[in-house]
Amino acid sequence: MTHDGMPYMVLLYYKYVPIANPERFVEDHRLLCQQLGLKGRILVAEEGINGTVAGEVGPIQQYQAALRSDQRFADLEFKISSGDASTFPKLMIKVRKEIVTLGLKEDVDPNENTGTHLSPESWKQMIDEGGDEVILFDARNRYESDVGFFEGALRPEIEHFRDLPKVVDDYAHLKGKKILMYCTGGIRCEKASALFQKEGFENVYQLHGGIVSYLEQVGRDHWKGDCFVFDQRMVVPDDFALADEPAGRCEQTGKPTRNLINCLHVPCHRLFLVSPDELAAHPEYELCPGCQKQGITMETADRGGKTQSSEEAG
Ligand SMILES: [Zn+2]
Repeated sequence: MTHDGMPYMVLLYYKYVPIANPERFVEDHRLLCQQLGLKGRILVAEEGINGTVAGEVGPIQQYQAALRSDQRFADLEFKISSGDASTFPKLMIKVRKEIVTLGLKEDVDPNENTGTHLSPESWKQMIDEGGDEVILFDARNRYESDVGFFEGALRPEIEHFRDLPKVVDDYAHLKGKKILMYCTGGIRCEKASALFQKEGFENVYQLHGGIVSYLEQVGRDHWKGDCFVFDQRMVVPDDFALADEPAGRCEQTGKPTRNLINCLHVPCHRLFLVSPDELAAHPEYELCPGCQKQGITMETADRGGKTQSSEEAG
């Protein structure tokens, strides 16, 4: 796929590599991004870097060159998608303990221990030939797999990646199977696959480059719906999926939809799917089914204060 003539580009990348002084690195990196007029979200830790960065094509290319000129990132892989100036309203660069928070008691280093990487082509082949031995596992959050997923995948009902360790036991009966694990860009599977291996799963694989690379390189075989992203776009159907019926279902009516909203009740703020037509006719559908069940109404809903924002990515 070429991206010539694209006025605006979004880069998705990560790498687990030691960064000795993350605070210092962040200072320098913020300057670089500001000079290039880039927006987005970059997390830096002693274990590596995880970024989604948006900007005009020229500056984005300069940014890629600048990163790759650093020995540690010489082999950095960038996944590219389209966006516009509203994709990321601001620039956020922060130091974190982990570049994606899993919060294991004993942390793992994906450079030493991780599931076997499968290229998108090999991934498809494995599914084509796999039969009962192959178990697809979605390592993302519930609201992400609601809008799109690999057909037949196990989709844990977790709201945060850090909740994954709590549900691993639910899949203990699958320890002898081939577990094919995937996420958006690949980063979450690096540690999630290591966690599964540690828990005794014998054959754990991960989709290299994640769903984004699969859709770009292989297409939509075995995939249903859209790919959720953690920015203003919410999903990236642009090149992939818009012609298809959405895989998601309105939680209020069961109608097909790709429209994700946050529950109106701020203390809940749950992301869920609602058909926009139904919402227009029934404003109370802006309250998630759980809140409605608890008796919260349009009158009693807490609409105030700050909204939460998620830093999970990839
Ligand atoms: Zn709610």
